[in-house]
Amino acid sequence: MNDLQKRTWAEISLPNIRHNYEAIRARLPEGCRFLGVVKADAYGHGAVQVSRLLESAGADYLAVSCLDEALELREHGITMPILILGHTPPEYTETLIDNHITQTISALAKAKAYSEAAGALGKTLKTHIKLDTGMSRLGYLCSGDYFETGVENLCRSVVLPNLEMEGIYTHFAVSDEPGEDCEAYTRAQFKLFTDVIDAVEARSGCHFAIRHCANTGAVVSYPEMMLDMVRPGLLLYGYGDVSGKLDLRPCMRLVTTISTIKYYEPGTTVSYGRRFTTQRRTRMGVLAAGYADGLPRLCSNKVSFAAKGGFAPQRGSICMDMCMVDLTDLPEASVGSEVELFGPVNDINKLSDAAQTIPYELLCAVSKRVPRVYAE
Ligand SMILES: *Cc1c(COP(=O)(O)O)cnc(C)c1O
Repeated sequence: MNDLQKRTWAEISLPNIRHNYEAIRARLPEGCRFLGVVKADAYGHGAVQVSRLLESAGADYLAVSCLDEALELREHGITMPILILGHTPPEYTETLIDNHITQTISALAKAKAYSEAAGALGKTLKTHIKLDTGMSRLGYLCSGDYFETGVENLCRSVVLPNLEMEGIYTHFAVSDEPGEDCEAYTRAQFKLFTDVIDAVEARSGCHFAIRHCANTGAVVSYPEMMLDMVRPGLLLYGYGDVSGKLDLRPCMRLVTTISTIKYYEPGTTVSYGRRFTTQRRTRMGVLAAGYADGLPRLCSNKVSFAAKGGFAPQRGSICMDMCMVDLTDLPEASVGSEVELFGPVNDINKLSDAAQTIPYELLCAVSKRVPRVYAE
């Protein structure tokens, strides 16, 4: 990054990602594979850089949400297996096959469409089956009264030609939330998952080499559910309540700079909507970061950021490209000095709580105009 352009940037620590990868890996049972979730530009950390690191560190699989994300990795020389978690229109079957990309299949009708498309090409598509065990999103429905039809549809899917059914997976709804209800729900999802697999394998004689369901929450709280592969996302990046339990390190530090500092008399209103009024003579700094950089406007007047010498309360509505902070009690903070919006010093959870959201959303919200700076 050009120093002259120092405005707002995201420092990404590749050593911390490697540390987190190795710390998670050390918890896995013998033979359990590691899939790193790198969708949404690796939760804002840079999918290509993170994937290169995971490939060199010995991870087994990557997961993305869509074909474009998978192709970006292939175009940048990533050769390890990639699973697409979302839907890909069957007309792209040839692109999937030619790029060695594994496609999720979430319903019998889609299995038939991919099978036909692959058959017409005389090729085979590698796939993982997705079961809906209680997330009510993508996947073969198999809960409650749907158990029989679910198993039947799966048995019909696994015998279709030109599909290689390498794996089968499901996704948990509340594995990262505390409480008896959440634990019971997660255990019921897991039991249904393994019951369906047992029924399909017994009835069709097929065998799924890779059964996986452990996302971040399950890797931390339900190690008995790791099966043949784990599938963490947030955990790898060291964020979330559960990351602390494993001594993982946050990998992104969002930093901005102070553009200018001015003194206002008591009773001065600040920013759009005049939603803050100074109560004292105030030394107010203007930060070069706003909601277009990924700072949620809902945080306005509710958070503080880490400046030189301490925390600076944010004042007034957060604008598109700027926001104001009270530096009266932080005389060391000066024009050009750095302010950590979130990172090791300023916990991202304070911001996500203020914005009524979760750390995931803040990481993904760090926008394109924020350069990523990689620490090796
Ligand atoms: C996003 C996603 C994950 C990773 O979730 P984390 O909570 O970040 O670990 C795993 N599996 C699927 C299907 C996902 O969509």
